[in-house]
Amino acid sequence: MARYRDALCRLCRRESEKLFLKGDRCFTDKCGVERRKYSPGQHGQRRKKLSDYALQLREKQKTKEAYGVLEKQFRKYYHMADKKQGVTGSNLLQLLERRLDNIVYRLGLAANRRQARQIVLHGHVTVNSKRVNIPSCLIRVGDEIGLKESSKKLVVIEENVAKIEHRGLPSWVEMDTGSLKGKVTHYPSRDEIDLPVQEQLIVELYSK
Ligand code: SF4
Repeated sequence: MARYRDALCRLCRRESEKLFLKGDRCFTDKCGVERRKYSPGQHGQRRKKLSDYALQLREKQKTKEAYGVLEKQFRKYYHMADKKQGVTGSNLLQLLERRLDNIVYRLGLAANRRQARQIVLHGHVTVNSKRVNIPSCLIRVGDEIGLKESSKKLVVIEENVAKIEHRGLPSWVEMDTGSLKGKVTHYPSRDEIDLPVQEQLIVELYSK
């Protein structure tokens, strides 16, 4: 499947927003957005007045980039969100948060979503004691997310687990750092999702 392989900080700089795509570096003054507060490229420092369409497009791009999802799959999530009861924008974010790679990241087993995706793809993660290597797998309330016994000793996992206390966990997941098992206690409401995005603009864009 196609993947974005260019510099990650470019994506944040394009949106003028920290999307926390790199992990620890994002919290230091080496962060690309902190160092260069303008868009990448030759014309990045020009002042731009964005049209309504451009504003909607940027919010959609920002969300896609934050979760590491490509256009086709993102649109699929939008249609699923639209069919569900409730506010479509919040449903969309909730669906994205329920992705297995995102949950692995939220549980603190990975430094960022990209690393979480790789950990899942390499078959280190279990859901209800069964190995699952599909990053887009949607997790339900009560599902138990764990690691294969041999994977618990991986240096990258040990490093990430050591930082869980410092990083903190979102209110809608819980994690036992002894057994390295976690679960989703409830689906996150909009207030519990810390992504700085105006999701109603994405809905406006897709509902044209
Ligand atoms: Fe984005 Fe992190 Fe790079 Fe900062 S360091 S620009 S938050 S990916």
